[in-house]
Amino acid sequence: MKYDYIIAGSGCAGLSLLFRMLKDPILKNKKILVIDKSKKTDNDRTWCYWEEGTGLFEAIVTHEWRRLQFLTSEFIKEFHLENYSYKMIKGLDFYSYVLSFAEEFENVVFKQEAIKSIQTETNAALVETENGKYTSDYVFNSTSLFNPEINKENSLLQHFEGWVIKTKEPTFNSEVGTLMDFRLDQKNGATFMYVLPTSSTEALVEYTLFSPALLKKEEYKLALKEYIKNYLHIDDYEILHTEFGVIPMSLAKFSRTTDASELIINIGTAGGHTKASSGYTFQFIQKNTERIISQLQLSGNPNVKMTFREKMFQWYDRTLLEVLISNKMKGKEVFSLLFGKRSPEMILKFLANESSLVDDIKIMSSLPIGPFLSAGVKQLKSN
Ligand SMILES: Cc1cc2nc3c(=O)[nH]c(=O)nc-3n(C[C@H](O)[C@H](O)[C@H](O)COP(=O)(O)OP(=O)(O)OC[C@H]3O[C@@H](n4cnc5c(N)ncnc54)[C@H](O)[C@@H]3O)c2cc1C
Repeated sequence: MKYDYIIAGSGCAGLSLLFRMLKDPILKNKKILVIDKSKKTDNDRTWCYWEEGTGLFEAIVTHEWRRLQFLTSEFIKEFHLENYSYKMIKGLDFYSYVLSFAEEFENVVFKQEAIKSIQTETNAALVETENGKYTSDYVFNSTSLFNPEINKENSLLQHFEGWVIKTKEPTFNSEVGTLMDFRLDQKNGATFMYVLPTSSTEALVEYTLFSPALLKKEEYKLALKEYIKNYLHIDDYEILHTEFGVIPMSLAKFSRTTDASELIINIGTAGGHTKASSGYTFQFIQKNTERIISQLQLSGNPNVKMTFREKMFQWYDRTLLEVLISNKMKGKEVFSLLFGKRSPEMILKFLANESSLVDDIKIMSSLPIGPFLSAGVKQLKSN
């Protein structure tokens, strides 16, 4: 049987796309095969992102914050978001929500198999797994099969360990999230903590670094313990959940399609939807999958072309990452200058690719021209 669409990889991007297809009155009737090697029954990650108003996954938002903090040893800035909300979704809530919705559809088939290759034939895309071969009109791929090579010259790693901790006594203000606390040793690269309280007794505390190499496992744990004791002043707590992650922050080119006939479409991190300079991906996956649906409705062809504005944001992003990789400036310095001089809402707009040209200029003018000019020219030439 030939499917209309194969979704190869049912993580954030694959399931976001599936959910959007099944919400559409026409696309919901298509023959869809979803293949993943994993069952998606683990709470393997927590997504944070910001958006205006109510989003598609509002029903499973664990908590949201309108007040955020940015801290360095030099200053503390607490701010109230005017239009955005900073939101958190637990991975397992997301997987269960989409999978239980999709269960109702007989035209959607799930297979738990490891994919070995994805290729095109005449007018069809072919997915080969450990158990069989499947064909479709289009394949939406979020596996790493086509990922470019990541190395120390073209990438930094964003690596982190997060603990959800519970205290006996009310300790946290669940209305205020800490976006970045840079009051930490910066010897390994840009190093900061997130503290996202979901109640007066529970918070996600995440030790995050942007650097070329991972640390030893015990170093993340030690940093978290010290921070909780010395900065949050908590001695007595229980660890409810831990997560560890590595997100590539890369100048390598993640292509949106892999073949001339454009029947294989890369989505999610595989399609370059991880913001290279920040690692945020969730909100970009939502924008991209929304556009894929619009394309399918309009023409039946799901290929989304980059707009001029998107190309500009990609250039800004690559320039900032180039500055960090080449050590022209430290991450702490860059973010401190931005948060010291500009409104946080404007920075979040810029990081979400939603700022105006005037905002872009204001953001750029808060950073020193030297390191950014040379990095910008280099990135312009490499495009
Ligand atoms: C711990 C962690 C926390 C994160 N937190 C945030 C955050 O707060 N905000 C944010 O914006 N981003 C965050 N990210 C980054 C990003 O949002 C996630 O990595 C997101 O899951 C990317 O979505 P994706 O669909 O591209 O990849 P994934 O969600 O990883 O999905 C890929 C799927 O492909 C499957 N797969 C891979 N290879 C094969 C194969 N050969 N055969 C079959 N199946 C295969 C995998 O099992 C997986 O289900 C985080 C990442 C991690 C790891």
